[in-house]
Amino acid sequence: MKFSVLAEAFGRMESTRKRTELTQHLVDLFEQTPHEVVARITYLMQGKLRPDFEGVELGVAEKLAIRAISKSSGIAAKNIEDEYRKEGDLGHAASEILSQKTQTTFMAQDITVERIYETLFKIARLEGSRSQDMKMKYISSLLNDASPPEAKYILKILLGTMRLGVAENTVMDALAARYTGDKANRRLLEHAYNVSSDLGRVAETVATGGLDAVKKFKMMLFNPVRPMLADRVKSQEEAVEKFGGEFAAEYKLDGERVQIHTGGGRVALFSRRLEDISAYYPDIIEKIPEIIDAGDAILEAEAVAVNENTGEFLPFQELMHRRRKYKIEKAVAEYPITVNFFDILYCDGASCLDMPYTDRRAMLERVVKSDEYARCIQMRKAGNSGEVQDFMEDSINAGSEGLMLKRLDSQYQAGSRGSNWLKLKREYQNDLGDSLDLVVIGGFFGRGRRTGSYGTLLLATYDIDGNVFTSICKVGTGFSDESLDQLYQILKPKVVIKKNPRVRSEMEPDVWFEPELVIEVVASEITLSPIHKAGLDTVRKGAGFALRFPKFTGKIRDEKGAEDASTNEEVATLYHGQKKVAHDKSLM
Ligand code: AMP
Repeated sequence: MKFSVLAEAFGRMESTRKRTELTQHLVDLFEQTPHEVVARITYLMQGKLRPDFEGVELGVAEKLAIRAISKSSGIAAKNIEDEYRKEGDLGHAASEILSQKTQTTFMAQDITVERIYETLFKIARLEGSRSQDMKMKYISSLLNDASPPEAKYILKILLGTMRLGVAENTVMDALAARYTGDKANRRLLEHAYNVSSDLGRVAETVATGGLDAVKKFKMMLFNPVRPMLADRVKSQEEAVEKFGGEFAAEYKLDGERVQIHTGGGRVALFSRRLEDISAYYPDIIEKIPEIIDAGDAILEAEAVAVNENTGEFLPFQELMHRRRKYKIEKAVAEYPITVNFFDILYCDGASCLDMPYTDRRAMLERVVKSDEYARCIQMRKAGNSGEVQDFMEDSINAGSEGLMLKRLDSQYQAGSRGSNWLKLKREYQNDLGDSLDLVVIGGFFGRGRRTGSYGTLLLATYDIDGNVFTSICKVGTGFSDESLDQLYQILKPKVVIKKNPRVRSEMEPDVWFEPELVIEVVASEITLSPIHKAGLDTVRKGAGFALRFPKFTGKIRDEKGAEDASTNEEVATLYHGQKKVAHDKSLM
């Protein structure tokens, strides 16, 4: 398949944000795509080569790309940098430069998707001392044969700046329309995606085998399942009312969610964001075969830092010491953990997702051989608010955050947030001591003690409908010297020259960031503001939500992606739940 077909389609997709138009462009693209390359095209349009959990990273630095463009075009690196500064995007700048050049010396040959993909894959695999030179060679060989629009997308993929704004759901809409003739079949594709986290595999399945193959789609060991998420409730009374009968209450531990895959002599761990985090937990990897009494299995657990002397649970931040590439053994010894299992998704060749909670829990208890290091999370059945209250107190005393309440007959709903799991955190029982997970979209340089760091951050919520990030507040309190420094290191590489098109903010910070990092904040109240864009027009025309007295809690939510941040719907629920609003309404 010619790469120019893909580049043209990407160009059309880039020029619209409307979902229906995007879907149509995708359908048109799939019409022109042979079955053998459907999977590869699906990854490329998301700027990837393989599903996230395989961790295939291109990791090409801008400097190297500039050198390669210079080599291919014969234009000095300095001029390319100037063009880049003007355009704000290196892919775009390269395409401008090459189009000036093409008129005189360039003879673009047809290049294929297969060749581009293969070369990109080789680049991703390169390691070691000579790898930079080799990368240069590969990149300039591609650029030599690429037309300007092709070069633009090759560079965007290489640099990780490919942002067509195609959400997974839009891709699935298009796949359903193109290969099953009915967009409504997306539901079935979604199920396949939720149990595999591999959109390329789903695309290939439906393209080659149609709806029948999708219906038979099986979960596979070492392909992570997209996690089931919980709704929040503010009080035990609300939970009792929602469930209307007996339910399970489990400790909600404050650690890292790990999805454990074991079988055939291999163990792998995936984070809540489906990244392979096996390297951070060599202790879990080593012990799993002894702990799990099954041939193969997929289990979910919360890994929690503990005080070795007292056995007490320690807060989530302690685990972040394990996020390192080197000297992991030292971190394992210094920051011991326990593994607390709460679900089983697959066992001995069969999916457990459709089993009711009670059966999964019974199976979990059978399969996990408990010891000091590993056990099933504490659980008790409850049916009234008094019982929940008692168990909540036990759980808080043990150092947990609150409770997870689960419907006894509920299946495991991969990839969805629903009311079969409810989280009841201790803070929710305050008026709005509630915490929000927000995306960092901008920074203001610090002064005085904070010179050399971002003293204040501009934060955003996630707007599901628009698939955009909407500003909600500036936060400048709650930072320790250590966290300012840490945030600066994390945020510096995310600086972008122009505001990302998915960011909605009227406020102009000193620097814009790629919307990627999520941090936790608390606030005293949610108010309405003419400046912020979160939930714009929801309550009043022209007004968005804002946070009053926001404060960083110290938690960098590393395990959350930007799309996992608090949504405008959640903020609206909190807003309406505020006592003040209720009071105002009663006066009206
Ligand atoms: P939150 O991050 O506040 O949305 O809460 C959901 C997270 O709580 C999950 O992703 C898990 O990491 C964690 N968690 C702790 N205990 C449990 C439990 N018993 N069941 C399910 N999730 C739990």
